[in-house]
Amino acid sequence: CGIVGYAGPAPANAKPLEVCLQGLKRLEYRGYDSAGVALAAPGMDTVVFRKKAGRLDNLVKETQRSPMPDATVGIGHTRWATNGAPSDVNAHPHISQDGKIALIHNGIIENAAQLKFELQAEGYSFSSGTDTEVAAKLLGKIANQVIDETGTPDLFEALRRVSRMLSGAFTLLAVDVRQPDIVVGSRHDSPLVVGLGDGENFLGSDVAAFVAYTKNALELGQDEAVCISAGSVTVTDFDGNPVEAKPFTVDWDA
Ligand code: GLU
Repeated sequence: CGIVGYAGPAPANAKPLEVCLQGLKRLEYRGYDSAGVALAAPGMDTVVFRKKAGRLDNLVKETQRSPMPDATVGIGHTRWATNGAPSDVNAHPHISQDGKIALIHNGIIENAAQLKFELQAEGYSFSSGTDTEVAAKLLGKIANQVIDETGTPDLFEALRRVSRMLSGAFTLLAVDVRQPDIVVGSRHDSPLVVGLGDGENFLGSDVAAFVAYTKNALELGQDEAVCISAGSVTVTDFDGNPVEAKPFTVDWDA
């Protein structure tokens, strides 16, 4: 339902969590039944995440009860359940089998049942009733197929490949502890905008996600993917061809 992403500079600090929670607060107007956040930073073995059914305040309290570490990148989600009841386990993010990748999703993946069946046959297990967990498990699998000799996967390429395999409507964002300087995203029949900061960059399902931080934005077109770091924004189509995204200025006050 609502999506926010943030890529900031090293060293790890509290801002990724702050931006995600603040962005989710501003996306509350869209309505939601659960909320969650995932963080990555250099040196982490697996992504760190918290997620809770109910009001955003439940998630905020959870991050106070069980504090999250400093990070360089983060993603946040408010869920409007379509596949699977509203619950803690069905809330986003969903996590790859190896725990390295966290993924959030707006929309409905129409071929999730078929993909889940195939992944289960390969030994993948599922803990939620969502279509989104299928995309998370699939991204984990594909990332491990585009891995270099240092053990670093090409997360951007992996997300493009996954995006080509999905049908339905989706905005996806993902972070990976093996590439803790980037957030990758893609969209098909569901919106995604980029917020251009100064030494930091943002992603959102709409500009409300980041308007408190920047008014300079880029609009992603249909079937496009994006990779942000603190100092760069790269947009491509799902085949990896570079695309010129349309810049615009947010013309309302935060
Ligand atoms: N289909 C996904 C789910 O039910 C995402 C729903 C949404 O857009 O929030 O978890």
